[in-house]
Amino acid sequence: MVEKREKVYEGKAKVMFATDNPDFLIQHFTDNATAFNGKKKGIIKNKGIINNKITAKIFTLLEENGIPTHFVEVLNDREMLVKKLDIVKVELVIRNYAAGSIARRLGLEAGIEFPFPIVEYFYKSDELDDPMINDWHIKYLNLATPEELKYMVDAALKVNDILKKFFDERNIKLIDFKLEFGRHDGQILLGDEFAPDGSRLWNKPDDYVLDKDRFRKDLGFVEEAYEEVCRRICGE
Ligand code: ADP
Ligand code: UDP
Repeated sequence: MVEKREKVYEGKAKVMFATDNPDFLIQHFTDNATAFNGKKKGIIKNKGIINNKITAKIFTLLEENGIPTHFVEVLNDREMLVKKLDIVKVELVIRNYAAGSIARRLGLEAGIEFPFPIVEYFYKSDELDDPMINDWHIKYLNLATPEELKYMVDAALKVNDILKKFFDERNIKLIDFKLEFGRHDGQILLGDEFAPDGSRLWNKPDDYVLDKDRFRKDLGFVEEAYEEVCRRICGE
């Protein structure tokens, strides 16, 4: 058993707490929701409880399939124990279908399927609004070594293969998602979360939105969508 200590970081949706073991943190999921880099704020009731459950389920599945993650164990409704990471300031986005910023940027119709997954990098910087970056920027800014970047891309594509199949079997289309990695004891681990906050999940076959776009675009039935995702994946 670890003891909970001081708050070390308060983000837009989660709070990280120290523990009596310097190798571990407690990741606490709140109901706070933001969009457009914090410009829109709100509460999604019970989101923290649902995202804790979904992340635990997905990270356990990924570990079983050979992806090392920071997840250790669920502690309570809103908290999980994780390995402390030195977060790589590169967010990896994997896209199977066009939606969101790529649709705007490249003038694509939302919903078209890509013939292969598209990988993008964003610089994790609230001040700069998370700009899109490439390998050269990552090298120049010293965000990750070429070896680390290669590892993260390979791992993210493997995560995509595992999750596409997993969601497909539950009648959900995995449109896109964002991953964060970090360093721990000389190894790169998948960190942060996997939840409807950082992914796009569409119901099959009607493409009903089951993710944070319901909040971003004021589509209503936000809590219900998160609950539905958990109903389909958490219970097993
Ligand atoms: P944001 O910082 O974007 O507002 P959150 O509210 O989700 O995001 O806060 C969680 C923060 O904790 C994120 O910045 C994330 O990079 C960081 N984080 C996630 N997992 C770990 C970990 N295992 N060790 C250290 N930091 C982590
Ligand atoms: N995403 C995220 N955090 C960010 C930016 C994007 O979790 O800071 C996720 C987002 O939920 C979506 C995917 O990454 O699942 C791709 O987002 P996109 O670039 O389309 O941006 P958006 O349309 O959200 O502005």
